Amino acid sequence: MQIVCTDRELLIFEKIAAAAQSLEVPCYLIGGFVRDKIIGRPTKDADIVCMGDGIELAHRVAASFQPKPTVAYFKTFGTAQIKLEDFEVEFVGARKESYSHHSRKPEVEPGSIEDDQDRRDFTINALAISLNKEDFGMLIDPFNGMKDIDAKTIQTPLPPLQTFSDDPLRMMRAIRFATQLHFTIAEETFQAIKDNAHRIKIVSQERITDELNKIMLTDQPSIGWDLLFRSGLLHIIFPQMVDLYGAEYVDGKGHKDNFYHTIQVLDNIAKNTDDLWLRWAALLHDIGKPATKKFEEGHGWTFHGHEVVGARMVPKIFTRLKLPLNEKMKLVQKLVMLHLRPISLTKENITDSAIRRLLFDAGEDIESLMMLCNADITSKNPNKVKRFMQNFEMVHNRLQEVEESDKIRNWQPPISGEMIMEKFGLNPSKPVGLIKDAIREAILDGIIPNDFDAAYQFMLQKAVELNLQAVE
Ligand code: ATP
Repeated sequence: MQIVCTDRELLIFEKIAAAAQSLEVPCYLIGGFVRDKIIGRPTKDADIVCMGDGIELAHRVAASFQPKPTVAYFKTFGTAQIKLEDFEVEFVGARKESYSHHSRKPEVEPGSIEDDQDRRDFTINALAISLNKEDFGMLIDPFNGMKDIDAKTIQTPLPPLQTFSDDPLRMMRAIRFATQLHFTIAEETFQAIKDNAHRIKIVSQERITDELNKIMLTDQPSIGWDLLFRSGLLHIIFPQMVDLYGAEYVDGKGHKDNFYHTIQVLDNIAKNTDDLWLRWAALLHDIGKPATKKFEEGHGWTFHGHEVVGARMVPKIFTRLKLPLNEKMKLVQKLVMLHLRPISLTKENITDSAIRRLLFDAGEDIESLMMLCNADITSKNPNKVKRFMQNFEMVHNRLQEVEESDKIRNWQPPISGEMIMEKFGLNPSKPVGLIKDAIREAILDGIIPNDFDAAYQFMLQKAVELNLQAVE
């Protein structure tokens, strides 16, 4: 073998080789598994291509394991999968592809290993390893994929204009691999992406967003967003991000480039969390800035209310990108809405009341919010960063102190609406809400402590103001 496999992987490949031999079909390991092994990345799935029926081979392979794994197969695509504990193997017959202009779904016909390598997207993904008796373990590298791995280059095996026009999803994949592997896209290949960017329109949103999420989950997602921007793809798939780009100057006063600031914030948060949705919150935190930008005489550039506008944009963006419209979207929206609050607390004398209100509004997401605010500090001036960090630490500590004493974070009203209705013989009605709100405000303002007795007395007082009579 020209790659280093575990004993278990080797045993699996020997069984596949034996099954293929018994069917008299040549077979090869191909694609991502070979690439990742050479690079030294962990990998949990392998693709097998054979000069015959992939489904039949999968069944023969499955029969040689005890217990016998299930074969999941798709007749229309001629593919089959078996899962061997946490290792997944996919089988397919080698094929030759031809594309028509309007679709990324090719006409396929059986082909040779060379045909199958020709249809691969990048040279580093076209590497194959023989599992045949005569040359078991031999690397077949018709496009110098090894050289490209060494040079950390992504390029297409065939002329790139054709490759990307045939299947425009490959443009997203090129950028995703460049981001995941920290590889550079070869000049001619990148130029072809620019020239074909408009073709991305024939790719389904789900596939585009899959790639975006993979970019988001890398250790330095800014690489991908920058490439998306520079290739022109971003202008088509996510124009609101492009609106963040650039710095405008009036009377010699400029503002920072919010696109590059945003992707820096994204990288910052990526150092501290693998959570996809916190990363999306970082990407979207300033998305309302272009719509709120103003130059005010004497002040310079302002973006008043950009957090509110941004939070309103979140569901629209999630809908367009076909991201889930569930509590994850709500979390992103909430973080965008609140992202200025912790820092704004450093500008005034922090009262307990302001801290309590932030704890109340952020609830259980306060740590995530603080993580976002921390990531948002991107100034290049070390003194400024130091001052921000100190202020940030101070707010962090105050939040902890106030939470310890007042327990606001997962606040539940000490007096429920039912209790109020029962006490004053009310149906669900406005006064019930008024009393509940007044109790909450009094607690947040520190007028009364956050406990039942104090809230009960306060309720009685409020009832007098509202001319309500207690029922005995
Ligand atoms: P990952 O598992 O990280 O997505 P991968 O390279 O294994 O990486 P898959 O999508 O599983 O990606 O694809 C397996 C192989 O199939 C690739 O290595 C490549 O050779 C080929 N391939 C996948 N998608 C395409 C495509 N759109 N065009 C051409 N070849 C492709």
